[in-house]
Amino acid sequence: MSDDITAYIAELFSPEDDVLRAVRDAAARAGMPPIAVVPETGRFLQVLLRAAGARRVLELGTLGGYSAICMARALPADGRIISLEVSPEHAAFARRQLERAGVADRVDVRTGAALDLLPALAGERFDAVFLDADKASLPAYFDWAMRLLRSGGLVIADNTLRGGRVLDADDHDPDLLGIREFNRKLATDPRVTGLVVPIGDGVGVGVVSGSDPR
Ligand code: SAH
Ligand code: MG
Repeated sequence: MSDDITAYIAELFSPEDDVLRAVRDAAARAGMPPIAVVPETGRFLQVLLRAAGARRVLELGTLGGYSAICMARALPADGRIISLEVSPEHAAFARRQLERAGVADRVDVRTGAALDLLPALAGERFDAVFLDADKASLPAYFDWAMRLLRSGGLVIADNTLRGGRVLDADDHDPDLLGIREFNRKLATDPRVTGLVVPIGDGVGVGVVSGSDPR
């Protein structure tokens, strides 16, 4: 999309409020990488969670809590997010930001590598799973999402276009291989109806179909 169109959408639909701006600023001051979702992706997450009537959400990759705050705001009062984060520093920072945003009671940040923490969730059911941790593991995270989502639930992934680098078939960076394989699964796995939407850095969305046990 052209920059003009992106700016039009961002200005109209996703002005950052003081809380989110403060979280982004605090993360920059703390030296965290500036890789939180952009505001329009945050807005898109809210639209998706509302459309799915989501109450239980699983996030992979908390960073400073920006996307978790966006998602928590789209949940009903009894809604809950479990967010997995490998860096104890990021997790501690995020907990403070969630407190400041008034949503700490809705978000449970768990510290550890996602693939180590996911088995403990094996018996649970989620309405939506947001994949935004390391990209090389995206195909494995897709498989976990299929295990954990209810039918009609949403698998959502950020950075599925990686600034256009997915198009460069000669780029064999493990992150890109992971993203390409995730996108291929999203496009072809019969259990989901999926699409990559070119907002932010590319957001992949798939709706789990059918009522068969998975
Ligand atoms: N969702 C956040 C951004 C996440 S950035 C937002 O939009 O606000 C990616 C995060 O994933 C980083 O904080 C990084 O530490 C974390 N991460 C990387 N590898 C991980 C892994 N294997 N398990 C869990 N978290 C991981
Ligand atoms: Mg991201």
